[in-house]
Amino acid sequence: MLCEMCGIDVANPILSKISGTILQTCQKCSTMGVEASEREKVGNEKYISDVMNKRSNRLREKVNKTEKILISDFGNLIKNGRERKKWSQQELASKISEKKSTIASIENKQYKPEKKLIRKLETVLEIKLMEAIEIKEEMKSSKATGMTLADLMEKGNG
Ligand SMILES: [Zn+2]
Repeated sequence: MLCEMCGIDVANPILSKISGTILQTCQKCSTMGVEASEREKVGNEKYISDVMNKRSNRLREKVNKTEKILISDFGNLIKNGRERKKWSQQELASKISEKKSTIASIENKQYKPEKKLIRKLETVLEIKLMEAIEIKEEMKSSKATGMTLADLMEKGNG
């Protein structure tokens, strides 16, 4: 291996940054430059894959935020829960101080119960009507501000 600065033969060349260029040099010439940065040592490809991994880890963390919403199949859940208890719609209605027509509308999904009524139904039927969903807002924002692999490549070459 020849030193890329002075051209002498070196057994163990040192990676040095000299005037912004990475060169393999002898010990003596390496003192003219600064030691190559981590990115320059590992090479662009690995650097980029590391960056991309860190980015996707970060996105995963953010996506873990959850919110509770009414399960979309609430009508069937309530109907099945009521039938398991062997109650008529009228019986269920009177247990939670509602009208039979309200129960019928909820089971048909014509009417979406509000939180207070959901809790009453959950308690009396011993079912869960709320489900946790992941909030994916962060995906949107990463699209707006995020860099693509191509962006990184461009920066790497610059
Ligand atoms: Zn040299």
